[in-house]
Amino acid sequence: MSCNRECVLVSGGAGYIGTHTTVALIEAGYDVVVVDNFSNSDASAISGVEKIVGRKIAFHQVDTCDRDALKRVFEQHGFNSVIHFAAFKAVGESVADPLKYYQNNLVSFMNILDLMKEYQRPNVLFSSSATVYGDTDTLPVTEESPRQPAMSPYGNTKQIAEDVLRDCCRAYDAIYGIALRYFNPIGAHPSALIGELPRGVPNNLLPYVTQTAAGVRQCLSIFGNDYDTPDGTCLRDYIDVVDLARAHVAALARMLHHGMKDKYEIFNVGTGNPVSVLELVNSFIEANGVDVPFKISGRRQGDVPAVWADTALANKELGWKTERNLTQTLRAAWAWEKHLRNID
Ligand code: UDP
Repeated sequence: MSCNRECVLVSGGAGYIGTHTTVALIEAGYDVVVVDNFSNSDASAISGVEKIVGRKIAFHQVDTCDRDALKRVFEQHGFNSVIHFAAFKAVGESVADPLKYYQNNLVSFMNILDLMKEYQRPNVLFSSSATVYGDTDTLPVTEESPRQPAMSPYGNTKQIAEDVLRDCCRAYDAIYGIALRYFNPIGAHPSALIGELPRGVPNNLLPYVTQTAAGVRQCLSIFGNDYDTPDGTCLRDYIDVVDLARAHVAALARMLHHGMKDKYEIFNVGTGNPVSVLELVNSFIEANGVDVPFKISGRRQGDVPAVWADTALANKELGWKTERNLTQTLRAAWAWEKHLRNID
């Protein structure tokens, strides 16, 4: 089957950001082919997407590290663009098992690029991360801010993958790439039909908050209140996942409509607003009228005190800006947690 309308391959399309982006693409009129190996998601994510968009989507359970299986997807579908989400993302696990991360995150991306080259599919959007900025002292960070040495193998896979993409765009006439550097994606689709599905104990702040509110966890630990920040807790830039998904649609349109100024471009995707851990927790409590027991614990190793985005470039060049406010985002996150736990 080839695609009649403009078609996009979404790798890792059953994941947290992948599902929301798949919905946004379909709502914007694209045909989408999703591949995912369900290593950190399951079939419920695909059915959630299908319920929202009101139809079946083309899905292949494929590991992007399996070049032969991925090649069959390239042969079967006529997409011109790829959005590559498929990757492992647990920072601590990457420290404990770096080879797992280098192997998975780099081999999968190189398979994608190699097949794009072979099948002449020119456009790729890559999921990068604000983690590439490391412990930066220029705030807010712009795309020009220097990358610092990665603080984990996970972060290093993002830096290396960016470099691989940059070099491929330079070397191969038929490859164009955009790396989107995500800040801290949070929230869920307003329908509460898709959201994050953390396995085991969440590493990230908001899933821990929602699980504590739901009674799955007893008490949230706030990692450090002695940072050099207004309330002593770390500052981050929390971006609603639905706004983040829309940034992918905007970046894709830029590629397809020949709006790129360079063959390889980078954009920060954040809100531009720093929010402290305490502010996030208190805003969640206020937005949802629920209790979240918390205590102050010691700093978590590897956390940077503060990072937030300068979003001017994305706003101007992608014609994209955030639409959802923090209260809406925190309500959607709680609605999703309640959906998962069957709480009324
Ligand atoms: N955090 C926390 N308690 C938790 C999880 C995270 O206090 O259970 C803090 C963490 O120290 C950081 C912020 O929340 O300051 C965001 O952490 P997260 O892991 O969500 O994202 P990161 O910025 O590390 O990618």
